[in-house]
Amino acid sequence: MISGPSGVGKSTIADRVLRLFENMRRSISYTTRPPREGEKEGENYFFVSEGRFRGLIEDGSLIEWAEVYGNLYGTGIEYVSTNLEQGWNLLLEIDIKGGESVKGKLPRSVLIMVVPPSLEALEQRLRGRKTDREGDIRRRLDNAISELRHWSNYDYVVINDRLEDAVERVRGIIRSEMARSSRIKMIKSVDKER
Ligand code: ADP
Ligand code: 5GP
Repeated sequence: MISGPSGVGKSTIADRVLRLFENMRRSISYTTRPPREGEKEGENYFFVSEGRFRGLIEDGSLIEWAEVYGNLYGTGIEYVSTNLEQGWNLLLEIDIKGGESVKGKLPRSVLIMVVPPSLEALEQRLRGRKTDREGDIRRRLDNAISELRHWSNYDYVVINDRLEDAVERVRGIIRSEMARSSRIKMIKSVDKER
């Protein structure tokens, strides 16, 4: 899971990292946010109404969900379990609360916090992205400070100073995690059961 404050560069890093691992997919979340220009159903998100989203919560169909800046976002249990059973590694780009709650339910998952080199740099990135209004930028910056305080709950902290360096750090973490003996044993025991 890649998590961190809004504007820190999670999507940018996730896009690059996904190109580096053939056996890795992005997890597609449900959201009540309307699609942005160019976003496609089932590719960026499953775009649903608030009523349908509430139904998913009631049915217990989500591993976690959170309200993020006025919209609801959640990760589907079936989506995750089907992909994992098929042998895919999943990359979740998820807000801080969501990341911590997935980690609580799936302890083998790896939680990476992306942090900015400074709050000034974060502000510049939020402004440079040109997707948020002034009030929203201020709200995101205010939240960033309390979000960053969660760093010690994370398995890894990656500073996104130069993009290429941050991508390399995340790549290194994923490679090391894939080589963990406990994961290899896990795959072998699944093999034996077949
Ligand atoms: P998030 O997904 O965390 O909200 P984005 O990936 O949308 O953040 O990045 C926010 C903005 O910062 C984008 O315009 C992106 O191009 C830019 N950005 C990302 N990483 C860096 C970096 N290392 N240096 C400078 N700008 C960056
Ligand atoms: P955006 O609207 O820019 O695509 O995403 C806004 C925020 O929602 C980002 O911080 C992103 O990480 C978070 N997010 C996306 N999907 C999920 C999800 O399934 N669960 C949670 N908790 N947060 C999500």
